[in-house]
Amino acid sequence: LFYLIDPVSRLVEGVSQYQVGSAAIARIVRAERLETEDVTEPDRRPERTGPAAVAFEDVTFRYREGLPYVHHGVSFDIPGPGMTAFVGPSGAGKTTVFGLLERFYDATGGRVLVDGRDVHEWPLAELRSVIGYVEQDAPVLAGTLRENLLFGAPGATGDEIQDVLVRARLDTLVDRLPDGLETLVGHRGSQLSGGERQRVAIARALLRKPRLLLLDEATSQLDAVNELALRDVVAEVSQEVTVLVVAHRLSTVTLADRIVVMDAGRVRASGTHDELVAADPLYGELAATQFLATPA
Ligand code: ADP
Ligand code: MG
Repeated sequence: LFYLIDPVSRLVEGVSQYQVGSAAIARIVRAERLETEDVTEPDRRPERTGPAAVAFEDVTFRYREGLPYVHHGVSFDIPGPGMTAFVGPSGAGKTTVFGLLERFYDATGGRVLVDGRDVHEWPLAELRSVIGYVEQDAPVLAGTLRENLLFGAPGATGDEIQDVLVRARLDTLVDRLPDGLETLVGHRGSQLSGGERQRVAIARALLRKPRLLLLDEATSQLDAVNELALRDVVAEVSQEVTVLVVAHRLSTVTLADRIVVMDAGRVRASGTHDELVAADPLYGELAATQFLATPA
């Protein structure tokens, strides 16, 4: 807990500098509060390993009473491991799927299951320890690169850090930086590109050894090198971990083991890229016009 306080205040400081969305702060503050709540948690199950299974059963959801429903009976079943891409027009409810899995919000109806267990039955801290969440335009916190990585996994060893640097394709970047892991990043430090920031966020998530990785892909255009790197990282991680990606790039989608097409709060189709191109006109249209990458 002591360790947490310093990064949190750094983050708050960083946020006022960069005007990062408040969701990251809310999460961290919530996680901190939960850490104390969890002390009295009696029902500790034996730790499971391996990829998590994820399912939505007829989930309905609205953010608040009086607001329109965002999910109108969403169902899917993802046994894991492997990569599942969520695609669909803006506002379809893709990011909300992640919010419900992390239990930032509770489903209004239906069930959200992780390992076959309703997320309501999970001790919250335990549920979140299973999940690595890489938000869209994930923030790089003020501080050094090392602090950025250790945030959320303060006990990680040097070997573990080196391992995630390699897996996130950050090792050559770190070697190139004059102060290596001690390089200050963010506002007053070395400016990282969008793709590098997202890989730092992935490395940070991987350091916590998640069984479920949620990646909300950045909508901003990445250079070809960064795009390939991200693609390789995600493909590799998904060999062992259940990976859900809100995808904006054709290059990501074509790698996915399965694709879930969402539209206006419903799942309208799912399958592989080739199946969907043949069967779903909306998917064909998205593939042709909306995914940011040029077809590979
Ligand atoms: P997508 O990721 O597919 O673009 P989202 O899940 O982010 O879609 O959003 C689905 C709908 O929910 C949108 O209409 C959006 O405006 C609304 N929405 C998202 N977040 C909130 C929130 N925190 N409060 C109220 N409405 C929200
Ligand atoms: Mg979104």
